[in-house]
Amino acid sequence: MAWYLMDETQRPYRHTKIVATIGPATESLEKLEALIAAGVDIIRLNMAHGSVEWVSEIIARIRQASANVDRHVAVMMDVKGPEVRTGPVDTPMQLAKGDRLELHTGDFEALNDGVHRVSVNYPDLPGDVDVGAMVLIDSGLLRTRVLEKNSARVVLEVLTPGVMGSRRHINLPGTQVNLPALTDKDKNDLCAGIAAGLDFVALSFVRQAEDIRTLRSYLDEQGCQARIIAKIEDQAGVRNMDEIIHETDGVMVARGDLGIEIEYHKLPLVQTQLVRACQSEGKPVIIATHLLESMIQSPIPTRAEISDVSNAIREQADAIMLSGETTTGAYPLESVEVLKNIVTSIEPSVERPINDRIQLHEPKSKMLRSSVVLAKELGQSGVVVFTRSGFLAYVLGAMRAHEVPIYAFTDVQSTFHQLMLPWGVEPFLIEFSDDPEETIQDALNVLLKKNWCKPGSWLVVITNALADDKIIDTLQLRQIGVEDA
Ligand code: PGA
Repeated sequence: MAWYLMDETQRPYRHTKIVATIGPATESLEKLEALIAAGVDIIRLNMAHGSVEWVSEIIARIRQASANVDRHVAVMMDVKGPEVRTGPVDTPMQLAKGDRLELHTGDFEALNDGVHRVSVNYPDLPGDVDVGAMVLIDSGLLRTRVLEKNSARVVLEVLTPGVMGSRRHINLPGTQVNLPALTDKDKNDLCAGIAAGLDFVALSFVRQAEDIRTLRSYLDEQGCQARIIAKIEDQAGVRNMDEIIHETDGVMVARGDLGIEIEYHKLPLVQTQLVRACQSEGKPVIIATHLLESMIQSPIPTRAEISDVSNAIREQADAIMLSGETTTGAYPLESVEVLKNIVTSIEPSVERPINDRIQLHEPKSKMLRSSVVLAKELGQSGVVVFTRSGFLAYVLGAMRAHEVPIYAFTDVQSTFHQLMLPWGVEPFLIEFSDDPEETIQDALNVLLKKNWCKPGSWLVVITNALADDKIIDTLQLRQIGVEDA
């Protein structure tokens, strides 16, 4: 049994973080308090369903709920990004196999000739799709193929029958869509989120590194330090994963759309590829969508869902995410409990070597690797680090040192929240003193008082020290709660 489960008085500790999307089922103050108290580390706002007014109100309420239950939480705004949708229909269309469906970029006439017609919100669609290309409507439920096109319309042949309502989501697997990375709605949503104090921005349908740069310069213009999470959800994103991971601060494996855009049976391969590529770059990765889908209606998960969540934990993803389960589901709190229980059971069994894929160039980064090796050797230990930007703690999390908590102390509020994401990092907000020794003692006191460590435990401390008037990086051994430590 893992050491951190042996003593009831000690604070529970998890490596794997939990992200929960909020919606009608969870947005009241009471429900938010319950979610945060249950262990959600990051709250996600899905702007595909949210308005500017909602953002300001909800972020304030999240901060209030967090203060009420005395547990910190980060806020992630997931901006909608470029999306192709069909227009409104008066009554749902019954589409049979072999039917023709026309997508019109402008006004069109409704004729009684057996052809289905609907508008589409993307004027350049005919320019982007090729004859023969697949067009998937309503999250992949309706499969169609392009028969012909001109500048005003795309004619589709229906391949799988179904009913099509208003404003259905369109996926174009394999088609390079030339929509802008950031829409006007995204910019408006971001302005509201920045003013209310968001910590992460997740960008939908990231296709190339340039999309991240576009968002980053927009955030810079607004003076916003939020970290960027690239949602990989189509073939271009998968193809360009290396350059995207290099540019972004973190990745979300957005399995909902990804499972439509690529061959579904390759999804586990792409998930593993993305997790490994992120671990090599030392960037956090979130596994999203359908983790506990059945719990939208059911109080217990399916056996397959339990295995899927366990797989994400075994792959050592930084975080696992709930969507429908916590937005509209009947069992949001139970879903969080289920994730926590699976983490608690599975994590102790995932004994993997320290990440040796991560490339460390600076001597200080190499020292970080030594610190986790030492803490592992000590057993029942942990690493204490002081960081303003969060960088050192992000690298320490990326080391994936099993059963080595990373206690990250910062005096910057935004960094404090952003440290909720990386694997195994437990953040603390304290004042830093001019005297490094005083700061270390303050940190050790916090760990002792809040029951994170037992008196007598040995910790590895990464800090600065003065030697001959020069600041040098040091790695120290400290015994906590013992006089003259
Ligand atoms: P969404 O993204 O919730 O914005 O659809 C997640 C996904 O596609 O998996």
